[in-house]
Amino acid sequence: MQYTPPDYLALDELLTDEQRLVRDSVRKFVDVEVLPIIGQHFEAGTFPEHLIAKIADLGVLGANLDGYGCAGVDATTYGLIMQELERGDSGVRSFASVQGSLAMFAIHRWGSEAQKEHWLPQMAAGKAIGCFGLTEPDFGSNPGGMVTHAVEKGGSYVLNGTKMWITNGCISKLAIVWAKLEGEIRGFIVETDRPGFESKRIEGKFSLRASITSELVLQDVEIPKENLLPKAGGLKGPLSCLSQARYGVAWGALGAAMGCYSEALNYAKERVQFSRPIAGYQLVQRKLVNILDDITHGQLLMMRLADLKDRGDVRPWQVSMGKRHCVRMALEAARTTRDILGANGISLEYSCGRHMGNLESVYTYEGTHDIHTLIIGQRITGISAFE
Ligand code: FAD
Repeated sequence: MQYTPPDYLALDELLTDEQRLVRDSVRKFVDVEVLPIIGQHFEAGTFPEHLIAKIADLGVLGANLDGYGCAGVDATTYGLIMQELERGDSGVRSFASVQGSLAMFAIHRWGSEAQKEHWLPQMAAGKAIGCFGLTEPDFGSNPGGMVTHAVEKGGSYVLNGTKMWITNGCISKLAIVWAKLEGEIRGFIVETDRPGFESKRIEGKFSLRASITSELVLQDVEIPKENLLPKAGGLKGPLSCLSQARYGVAWGALGAAMGCYSEALNYAKERVQFSRPIAGYQLVQRKLVNILDDITHGQLLMMRLADLKDRGDVRPWQVSMGKRHCVRMALEAARTTRDILGANGISLEYSCGRHMGNLESVYTYEGTHDIHTLIIGQRITGISAFE
């Protein structure tokens, strides 16, 4: 079905030629390379690994970072890239987000010059895949409680612990592992071929099926001292990475919603029941208008966050509103599209059911919907309701 991108307020006019060019090249990549095969991968529970080199060739891995083989694009361009990738599939966008905004960003922001020069060019080229190990079986929303720890041993650190729900885990060459060193959270670069490091695929997911999700087990994994990210101390380290990634997640969810809206509109105009296309019935029009209304609010919100981000003024509690709004509305858009498509809505021939399943994960990861509510609540009241 032809993609008709919703742009009710002519926001396209606000983009530069270069921003449009990048967006359109990723859009075309998704149409040609992702959408024709993604349903099969979703069904089989496999990640389309053959796309990694092509995604890297597009220059989107760590696209908003400067230097070290990265494209250094502005925040709007980066957002548009994430938007287009997730119109394809949340799993494909998650792959790029974790590589760029979590693993590469952690090294770019908190690493030594030697770490940056060694890892970032090969990561931007898709030759080394990274993952980001923060969540543990017993510590999700509250990562500060983590039990994974490192101890100093001569010229090395020895790490022990388990990380859970780790995107890209089994295909990674390196893991950014957050662990406590003398009680303080620190970041470590752990090459995944080190003795004692094991990654296991998490099977049986009904969401993000075309994405690799893993458990990482570290048992007496010894790494050289140079693998410590020297500048990151405390929760600020991982939270700064999450703030980067959440910004991209919000744009991505917008893309999933835009894909659903286009699918719903096209379908409703063609599907005839009783005497006319179902798009001619008031109840269906209300559903379409509600989706478009929510998307348009999301587009305005993200364009503003992009401006703030480019000025260096965006705050984590503002990013929380972007993630919270866009993911909730995208999930709602996917559910409503599924409804408008009737029985066809549950078929993998269409995107809405796949998006609906995927967005359940997106609602939970990178800070759950409720955790973002609490972050905003704390900001406006000055009172923390976390504990
Ligand atoms: P919990 O923290 O146990 O939360 C359960 C429920 O309790 C939620 O509804 C939550 O909102 C609510 N809750 C928790 N605390 C409070 C409170 N104070 N007040 C009110 N309600 C509360 N993690 C990584 O580190 N790296 C990854 O690459 C990664 N990829 C992921 C991929 C997938 C597909 C998924 C599903 C998860 C991934 N995660 C990853 C983990 C994700 O970040 C966590 O699932 C998330 O932080 C929530 O943690 P939890 O699942 O332990 O839920």
